[in-house]
This record gives sequence, structure tokens and C-alpha cells, in this order.
Amino acid sequence: MSNNSYKFSGKYIIKGDMRCITGLHIGGTDEGFDIGGMENPVIKDPITGYPYIPGSSLKGKIRSLLEWTTKRANNLTCTEYQIDEFETKRKALIDKISGENNPVKKNKLQEELDRMSPSIKPCDCGTCDVCIVFGCSAASAVKEPTRLTVRDSFPKKDTVERWEINFGEKIYTEIKTENTINRLTSEANPRPMERVTADSVFEVEMLFDIYKEEDEQKIKKVFEGMMLLEDSALGGSGSRGSGKVVFEKIKIYKREMAYYIQGKDETVVNQSGNETPRDIHINFNTIFPIKAQK
Ligand SMILES: [Zn+2]
Repeated sequence: MSNNSYKFSGKYIIKGDMRCITGLHIGGTDEGFDIGGMENPVIKDPITGYPYIPGSSLKGKIRSLLEWTTKRANNLTCTEYQIDEFETKRKALIDKISGENNPVKKNKLQEELDRMSPSIKPCDCGTCDVCIVFGCSAASAVKEPTRLTVRDSFPKKDTVERWEINFGEKIYTEIKTENTINRLTSEANPRPMERVTADSVFEVEMLFDIYKEEDEQKIKKVFEGMMLLEDSALGGSGSRGSGKVVFEKIKIYKREMAYYIQGKDETVVNQSGNETPRDIHINFNTIFPIKAQK
């Protein structure tokens, strides 16, 4: 079979707990004008009222962190590549300005330069591991099946019980007030923000589809990304202390095509003791041995 064709051969299901070590703010719709509504609310399930973590938020954050570590062409990471591209464009424009003698044209070019700002977008080269695992934008010319699906994460039962005991029914969050200090008057300007409390636990589920033999090795990127997230922050106000999370009790299930077609059982591929992103990453070659070339 040609190396370029896709053949679905099964899925890996990655399940685990995500524990908030600090408060977490993933923004929802502003209820501002409603009576009793608040500024900066967290996103909540409209039926249960429980805060949850949209799969898009988790996937997007992990992806953005991996774009700082994943190499693209000419040995630059996805992000470095775009910054490099921007700097090249900027330098070319500066050269053009210094070579321009017509003052009107020079002015126009100067304005163009002033407007330039690096907008680092998600990589859509279509060939790096991030693009293959996380997918490319719809506008991109490259069409590969996206390998990774991230489900919305909902709170665990004991977390909801704890919220109800601590806050009373239908109140599941804390209000944190952040101050900006007026530099002239030293007056504080308080800004309330809703947060999921520290020690809340959410159930995470990710699906990794296998279309090519080499796809299995690319699952490593998911655990690399989870490690990067543990040392970064999820959601808003990360640089001011919110959004520290850790992943625990990870189980990786393998469901071959026969699971779906013939009712074959799933298998657990990681042993207990290898249940954190770092443990799985370190022992990756044991959990996912490289298959001999056929
Ligand atoms: Zn890419």
C-alpha cells in the first residue's frame, strides 16, 4: 500500500482526571445586564448549571503550547517560524522606506510599518506533527484527517457534592476580585471574576484516531502537550495565578477496528504507576513500542 493513503485501523481513548490546583476561569457568556447577573462569568452547562471545560479550550491551549516546541521546516518551531517570517517582512519594508525618495510614498510606507504587528496564528503548514495531530484550519490547502478529538470535560460527582456543601445549591464557584492600581492615586479599581475553585476535578477524554502506522508514535505529542500545560495555565488570568491544573489517573484504552465491527474487547495499554503525562512520556517506548518495518 502506498505510504500516502489513509486506512482507519482503530482508536486510542485517553481518559483521566484534570485537577485544578488553583482557581480556574474559562470565560462564558456575560450575563451583565440581567438582574443578578455578573461580570466575567465562567462557562457553564445550561442544563445543570455546572461549570465545565470546553474541549476546544483544552485542545487549543495544548496546541498553542506545542507550537513553541514542535519543529517545522528549517528547524524552527511553528511559532518561531511565524515570528521569523514577520521579521523578514518587516526588514524588507524598512529597506523599502529608506530607499524611497518620494515623501508621500515614504509616508504611506511608514504608516504601513507602524500598523504591522506579529499575529501568530495556529500553524497550518499541514506537515508538522501539530498540524497532523490537531488538524489544520478549514482554509488550509492541506487536507489530512485530524487525529485528535478532545471532548468537553465535566466535573466529577464528588466535586459537585463538595461545591454544594461549600457554597449551597446552584452556586458552584467563587468570585475573585482582582485590583488594578491607579498609578497616580494608588486607588484600587476592583474587577470581579468568577472562578472554579481549587481542587475541583474534571473528567477528561481524548480520542486519537490511527490512520497510518506511524500515527501511534505521534500520540507522544499529546502527553508532551499535557506536561507543558501543567507548567503553564489554562483559561484566563494565568499570569496572575489562575489556571494551574494537573492530570492524574490517566488510562489509555486501545480499540481496534474489530472492537467496532466484531465486538472485540478494548485493552488498557498503560500500567498503573504510569498514570501521569510525565510517566507516560518517559515510558512511551514501552507503552507504544515501535513496530518492526514490514
Ligand atoms: Zn504545521
